[in-house]
Amino acid sequence: LSSLLKDPSLLETRAYINGAWVEGTAQLDVDNPARGDIIAQVADLSREQVASAIDAAYVAQKEWAQWTGKERANVLRKWFDLMMANQDDLGTIMTAEQGKPLAEAKGEVAYGASFIEFFAEEAKRIYGETIPGHMRDKRIMVMKQPIGVAASITPWNFPNAMITRKAAPALAAGCAFVGRPASETPLSALALAVLADRAGIPAGVFNILPSSNASEIGKEFCENQKVRKLTFTGSTGVGRILLAQAAHNVMKCSMELGGNAPFIVFDDADVDAAVEGAIICKFRNNGQTCVCANRIYVQSGVYDVFTEKLAARVAQMKVGDGLEAGSELGPLITPAAIQKVQNHIADAKAKGGEVVYAGDTPQSLGNFLAPTIIKGVTRDMAVATEETFGPLAPIFKFETEDEVIELANDTIFGLASYFYANDLSRVYKVAEALEYGIVGVNTGIISTENAPFGGVKQSGLGREGSHHGIEDYLELKYVCLTV
Ligand code: ADP
Repeated sequence: LSSLLKDPSLLETRAYINGAWVEGTAQLDVDNPARGDIIAQVADLSREQVASAIDAAYVAQKEWAQWTGKERANVLRKWFDLMMANQDDLGTIMTAEQGKPLAEAKGEVAYGASFIEFFAEEAKRIYGETIPGHMRDKRIMVMKQPIGVAASITPWNFPNAMITRKAAPALAAGCAFVGRPASETPLSALALAVLADRAGIPAGVFNILPSSNASEIGKEFCENQKVRKLTFTGSTGVGRILLAQAAHNVMKCSMELGGNAPFIVFDDADVDAAVEGAIICKFRNNGQTCVCANRIYVQSGVYDVFTEKLAARVAQMKVGDGLEAGSELGPLITPAAIQKVQNHIADAKAKGGEVVYAGDTPQSLGNFLAPTIIKGVTRDMAVATEETFGPLAPIFKFETEDEVIELANDTIFGLASYFYANDLSRVYKVAEALEYGIVGVNTGIISTENAPFGGVKQSGLGREGSHHGIEDYLELKYVCLTV
């Protein structure tokens, strides 16, 4: 891997604690899901080492919070510039450990960097307020202050952006950050740390702590009283465990959890645009995002034409190693991920679903699975309630607006939703009726640093991105003054 990089020093395998590179008590293997070979051995930290990183972050945060917004902004901006200057290498490292095609990986680096840029600017705009006093001699001030040490646990599907979405607002607010990256993808996180160091982020303010023992590290984050904020992206199941653990110290939590996104195509939609939207939304990262379309609902008048066009379009997509030119669909992250998609396919077929397209899976040691499209999907199938997280597009038929709203909302999840329609009153009505934190109307792409990303129901708590995103890292302090 290092021979593919312009700057091989970005390929760091030690943990980053208090501005120093630290070996673990063991090592964890990082493999390339497109080839099955081990590409690096990374420091595997013990719980004690993580506790020492929290100690360092606790001390560093006090000083960092004294910096002016502009001072913090300047180093964050440098970090952003370094990420963009090293976009190619960061992309190559990401593709090698995560599998997504190189163009997508570079896109994620730019997306991840955009949070640093955005929150660097926000660091200067953390405004408090004054409130008219409740008595003639009283004055009320509201200050916004950083929470303290923020601990982060992130997944493998966006090895860069899931970290920057948390670290950027945390650092901008004046918090220190201790992050455990997913053990499948620690190299992207450590490369970010190399650049944070070069940008001049002070020792202890940003720490990257790889460890294979997720549950022990999760406990340390929740039980250590020096940590005041937990931010997590991952499954609803693990989110529930962490919320229960965080209750012990009554810790502030942000949770970006699972989704089960409906993608609705109404009769009045532009079908070609809907097909393109579905391709982007369903097959980005080969279906492994929490905002990927999981259930595609198509109104009866355009059902056949949409299904045919989608199948024709998917048939053109090349499955292959993300580092090879032209690959649009990379491998899945693990063999278990393949199994889950295959279970959903088998379940849908057993219950009457009809396969309209099944691609050829390349023969390789990698975790490849070609895309599948199934029509005639019904609500009793596993795909109707579970997140598939892979390249299966299940297509349901519906007749009326009320029916599809009821179907779309019939889930414990409420992260992203999408629909295609042109009738203006329908657009308003459906956007209001969908019980989701995010609604894409006539678009399959909704992620941007400018907007508040997050879910309702069991998809999470809090928002990431936009001016709202920084609030998750701030406390309000009310000062009552007698004059
Ligand atoms: P995913 O399917 O995206 O891997 P998970 O919720 O299983 O979703 O994992 C998200 C992150 O949470 C990963 O980094 C994983 O290692 C970590 N994790 C899993 N179980 C726990 C736990 N009990 N405590 C803390 N972190 C955990």
